[in-house]
Amino acid sequence: MTKPIIGILGGGQLGMMLCDAAKEIDIETHIFCPDDDCPSRGRSTYFSIGEYSDEEKIIRFSNSVDFITYEFENIPIKTIDFIKDQNKIRPGKQSLLLTQDRLTEKRFLDKLNIPIAPYKDLKNIDDIISAQNEFINSIVKTRTLGYDGKGQFNLRQSDDPNKVFNRLVSKSIIEKRIPFELEVSVIIGRDINNNTAIFPIGKNVHENHILKHTFSPTNLSKNQINQLVDYSEKIVTELNHIGVLAVEFFITKDQILVNEIAPRVHNSGHWTIDACSVSQFKQHMLCVSGREIKQPLLNNSAHMINIIGEEINDWCGKNNTDELKIHLYNKKEAKKGRKMGHVTELFDKGKIF
Ligand code: ADP
Ligand code: MG
Repeated sequence: MTKPIIGILGGGQLGMMLCDAAKEIDIETHIFCPDDDCPSRGRSTYFSIGEYSDEEKIIRFSNSVDFITYEFENIPIKTIDFIKDQNKIRPGKQSLLLTQDRLTEKRFLDKLNIPIAPYKDLKNIDDIISAQNEFINSIVKTRTLGYDGKGQFNLRQSDDPNKVFNRLVSKSIIEKRIPFELEVSVIIGRDINNNTAIFPIGKNVHENHILKHTFSPTNLSKNQINQLVDYSEKIVTELNHIGVLAVEFFITKDQILVNEIAPRVHNSGHWTIDACSVSQFKQHMLCVSGREIKQPLLNNSAHMINIIGEEINDWCGKNNTDELKIHLYNKKEAKKGRKMGHVTELFDKGKIF
């Protein structure tokens, strides 16, 4: 039997881990990426180098694969539109359209009656002044292309609104700063038959706006878990999403708020490779190829630590042990703030963080 080929737009570490997972479930992969020297290089069955704006190359790529997925959400919509058979795209275009722009995403969540942080579309100086009055402390975020805290800055009540306005480089929103007690994320998968499955929920700790630690499972009440699962299921179903998706949440003393949606496998789910019966990457490839989703079982409790920038020097040449699994992304340059790898520390599965 010939193996299905899944094309992946993007060749970063998420693409790399999708390729590795595919090998274990008899799926071939074809990476399309502008960078010849990306982390996925050498890990996929096939590799095409090209720009996302190169219509001819995208069409050739899409004709050579059975399904097409993506490993980052900023794939230009134009690229998706080049693809003649839109049914090949899993998750579909809708998941990208609604999550590429923070404002569109927030309006989508509002429509679903899912609680989020109060926000304003930042159009003029009056919006800044009213946010300062209403929210006291807020965060200005670019609507598109932000990640790892890039394109964000704090807005305080005492800041000069004119100066803040002049500092803007692209269309932005203002969000009330939430004094959360906990940040968690739900990694959810959905197959073509609308079956969904949730991974054990992890709590996230950020340093300098970049995810540093994920701990799973985490100590939440039944009510909180039900609410988190309910919101996540609503989102994945409403988007008609095929594959894995992550929802980031803030948990305050009395509320659960969605922070943002990532329509793809997510950094806070990397620990599932070493600690679950099925990883988020395998789950994604199963769903995209049309196979039935699996219910992930927890083999170990886990603590994932991101290796950022120069920290890579502490991990090169180190070996895995029974309790410590090292994953390096083969990036040439250890730039400040760049995700270079991650480590998963395993514990007996009774441990709750
Ligand atoms: P990114 O796309 O960079 O992940 P996020 O909106 O998730 O952007 O912000 C990154 C991190 O910054 C969050 O995980 C959280 O720790 C902090 N943060 C973002 N928005 C808020 C907010 N409204 N209140 C408090 N902290 C926030
Ligand atoms: Mg985030």
